Amino acid sequence: MQSERQRKKIHIEGIVQGVGFRPFVYQLAQRLGIAGWVFNDSEGVKIEAEGEPALLQVFLGALQRETPPLAAISRFALEERPVRGDTQFTIRVSENETARKAQIAPDTYVCEDCRRELFAPTDRRYRYPFINCTNCGPRFTIVTGVPYDRPKTTMADFPMCAQCRREYDDPRDRRFHAQPNACPYCGPQVRLHDACGDLLPVEDPVREAVRRLQEGQIVAIKGLGGYHLAVDAGNDAAVAELRRRKVRDEKPFALMSAGLAQVRTYAELDTAEQSLLESVERPIVLLRQCSKHPLSALVAPRNRYFGVMLPCTPLHELLLENGFTALVMTSANICDEPIVFQDEEAIERLNGVADSYLIHNRRIYMRTDDSITRVMAGRPVVMRRSRGYVPRGIFLPAGQPSVLALGAELKSAVCLTQDERAFLSQHIGDLKNMEVYRSLIATVDHLQEILELQPQILAHDLHPDYLSTRYAEERSGIPRVAVQHHHAHLASCLAENGVEDEAIGIIFDGIGFGEDGRIWGGEFLVGGFDGYRRAGHFAYVPMPGSDAATKEPYRMALSYLRHAFDAQLPELPFLKRIAEGERRLLLQMMAQGINSPLTSSCGRLFDGVAALVGLRDRVSFEGQAALELEMAIDGPAQRRTYPFALVQEGEMLIFDHAPLIRALALDVLDGIPAGVISACFHNTLAQMVRRVCDQLRQTTGLQRVALSGGVFQNRFLTERCLELLESGGFQVFTHSLVPPNDGGLALGQAVIAGRRPAG
Ligand code: ZN
Ligand code: ZN
Ligand code: FE
Repeated sequence: MQSERQRKKIHIEGIVQGVGFRPFVYQLAQRLGIAGWVFNDSEGVKIEAEGEPALLQVFLGALQRETPPLAAISRFALEERPVRGDTQFTIRVSENETARKAQIAPDTYVCEDCRRELFAPTDRRYRYPFINCTNCGPRFTIVTGVPYDRPKTTMADFPMCAQCRREYDDPRDRRFHAQPNACPYCGPQVRLHDACGDLLPVEDPVREAVRRLQEGQIVAIKGLGGYHLAVDAGNDAAVAELRRRKVRDEKPFALMSAGLAQVRTYAELDTAEQSLLESVERPIVLLRQCSKHPLSALVAPRNRYFGVMLPCTPLHELLLENGFTALVMTSANICDEPIVFQDEEAIERLNGVADSYLIHNRRIYMRTDDSITRVMAGRPVVMRRSRGYVPRGIFLPAGQPSVLALGAELKSAVCLTQDERAFLSQHIGDLKNMEVYRSLIATVDHLQEILELQPQILAHDLHPDYLSTRYAEERSGIPRVAVQHHHAHLASCLAENGVEDEAIGIIFDGIGFGEDGRIWGGEFLVGGFDGYRRAGHFAYVPMPGSDAATKEPYRMALSYLRHAFDAQLPELPFLKRIAEGERRLLLQMMAQGINSPLTSSCGRLFDGVAALVGLRDRVSFEGQAALELEMAIDGPAQRRTYPFALVQEGEMLIFDHAPLIRALALDVLDGIPAGVISACFHNTLAQMVRRVCDQLRQTTGLQRVALSGGVFQNRFLTERCLELLESGGFQVFTHSLVPPNDGGLALGQAVIAGRRPAG
């Protein structure tokens, strides 16, 4: 019988360490009567398995199909070995568990097993807010270095008690080598502090926090990657008070609910959105609001969507256990600074905002915001890639030298590559102040530390004044590559879709530094990783007052009107809101080219149209007017379009929006509702994209189209473009794993720089 046996050596790479992979292999082998061993090495997991050929086949199949929830296999290789006659299966403890290529897992939700124990009165971890196992719990945010092992996490502060240690050492236990393993006797504890930061002597801080939330208080709550400010979303006065105390903040607040049943009372859900909400990453998902709902209108003013997440830690499970339809869970930050993540900093900086603080003594090592996602055309799209996704690698079409790419300025994130994998960092923020810049430096250091990698090439934006560019310049000894902004967007979209070949790039975003020194943003490119050609763009218009025109869309509205009508401007209602003197001054500035740089931006066109139809004259955050223009759309059946012109100017195809603006202005004068005008405007842009692609296909023969840039966070526009392009026989690539906005830019920079000899 012995001679019929076979022995195989299996080599597995990917996220396979610290996620319960060895216990999983062990238990599978036990179940099937397979002998041999499993072992962690520097590259992943190695297994030798011996048994009947049929059983071995089952074993190999199950290894790939039934992996633990947090594991992700990136390579699976097999080798024949001589039979050795083993009778048992063992977990071999590695003499050196250094995991160089092995990846650290992202932070994840509470698994079903832990959830059951959390609410089981007889369990020793009943209502313990830090329950976790190899299948769930904190990872990235608590890792201080590699190898991933308890001493290299912030759990090093908590020596395990005998019972926890037994679980940790037992290969058959769900908590075998679960580095954050803890219990109420040996692990972290929560505490409640009052508004002054003084410790409150309460028996159950979580229950007391819930009571305070029910009373309408604002409670600062320490989460996985930073602090949230929480209030009862159904309490209008409490939400209003939070808005008042978080001055200058008009952004929609995110919500957290206990489960789908609660979410359904205020938002509409399809199956794709449902599975995204319930995914282990637990991101914020943008969901359409129900027409009637029990939540405060101040949660998301002028917005048809709510950003919703389900509990991502046991602490949140306990807070939402019974009572609230939803809690507001907004990132605790001051103005445009990064999210607050240290306890003393929280009490100091949130002074005057929070009524109490629910704190715990497990340190957050890496600040990480909540991720934001949205479903478009049935597919999830990540709009902010952070908690739950980071530091999972993205596979590149080919291997390349290690590049550190630094992103641009807004929605900054960096990217470090290793062979054919790219590691995009968590969301860092808008690089406009030193706090965010310091956060960028810490993020780069941490990423290099956990990947044990020093980059060979630096990639940065072409813009000379960005802080990210400055960082690259100040890091001496490493060759640098400057990458044009919209080329990077194109490459980012191609890279995440694994496309090696050239494509037509329709890149619509706010602003990016152009090769001609002008501000680009509505671009038609042709190219790939190795290079690109600007095939066309939106007609240039001046931005009167430069940056001020981004904050005050009425300036852009005036600029587009001037472009469309010359001197004879129609008397649109929004013009009456601009003082006569200012209007004259702005027109003069544009005529004489004073502080009025030219732009082909698509984002600014959205801003201008939002002001023209009377939605908004000023914004408090980038993209606000464009967002509200999308939200205003009424009647998805609306198919009307406005006229527009595509003009060939030498090598360039120019989209002239003058006919569009003229027709749109007439609609405004006729009193057509903003929602209808907005739909027609969106339809026109999609129609224009199709015509541009038709023309470029004729001259280049390319069928592939990549849609990228922040404007493609717009679901209506993205779906319309997809529909029109696919019906025209184009193969369309959109973003899903990385954001279409500048948060995904570093990925494109990294691939372009990895292919280019640095100069
Ligand atoms: Zn668990
Ligand atoms: Zn313990
Ligand atoms: Fe951009």
